[in-house]
Amino acid sequence: MLKNVRVVLVNTSHPGNIGGAARAMKNMGLSELVLVDPERFPDPDAVSRASGADDVLANARIVATLEEAIADCSLVLGTSARDRRIPWPVLDPRESADKVLDQLEQLPDAQIALVFGREDSGLTTDELQRCQYHVHIPSMPDFSSLNLAAAVQVLAYELRMQGLQREGAPTKMHKVETTAVFNEIPATAGELEQFYQHLEQVLVEIGFHDPQKPRQLMPRLRRLYGRVHLNRMEMNILRGILTETQKAVGVKAAGERRS
Ligand code: SAH
Repeated sequence: MLKNVRVVLVNTSHPGNIGGAARAMKNMGLSELVLVDPERFPDPDAVSRASGADDVLANARIVATLEEAIADCSLVLGTSARDRRIPWPVLDPRESADKVLDQLEQLPDAQIALVFGREDSGLTTDELQRCQYHVHIPSMPDFSSLNLAAAVQVLAYELRMQGLQREGAPTKMHKVETTAVFNEIPATAGELEQFYQHLEQVLVEIGFHDPQKPRQLMPRLRRLYGRVHLNRMEMNILRGILTETQKAVGVKAAGERRS
């Protein structure tokens, strides 16, 4: 789906930034790069900063004007580090990802452009006025301008996060495994009760707990174990530990009796 989302870099002066942008895009599942009149491209610096996103560079389209780059797009978002003082709808990167995905949900064939400006001067007022929305990354007001490739990364990341969330796909590594553990059958109240009785018995046997002077020990332990929502597998581990403790203490007691 993100095939319809292109990154447009206007008049980039450092080819390293083109490579960095290509890498950021590929990391987040974007592949369409359009370069408007780049100062130096192709260039070895671009390849080196792309660190393996060579395919994105190789497929990059070079055009002469922004107009050409966005002619077939139905949604154009222009990024800007500064407040241009032209009243225009402004989005943060998260909102911009929402706009893009909403548009694609409504019109799966829509073409969409994310436009980035020159390293030294950004996008001109004329260029910004060709964009329906302006996207501002909420950086520090007194040091607001990000490196070009870093700005591409922020927008691409937000698109990926929102895309994954909308698909219901995991956004955390190994999420499948952890979910499986948490989805284990929870211990029932009856099982918990047996566990607490077993625990109390062992605590008495090892001399830690005196039921004549309980000092709120059992309620406090109930509160502690209650907080973690034990599942059946975890309960079995704890019961196993208690049983082995009893055996070890029994062995010791029997040994003491023998000697
Ligand atoms: N001095 C320029 C900064 C250009 S930085 C200016 O004031 O506009 C190069 C490009 O990176 C910008 O044109 C924009 O596309 C992107 N960029 C950098 N910082 C950004 C920010 N805080 N929000 C949105 N885009 C940003």
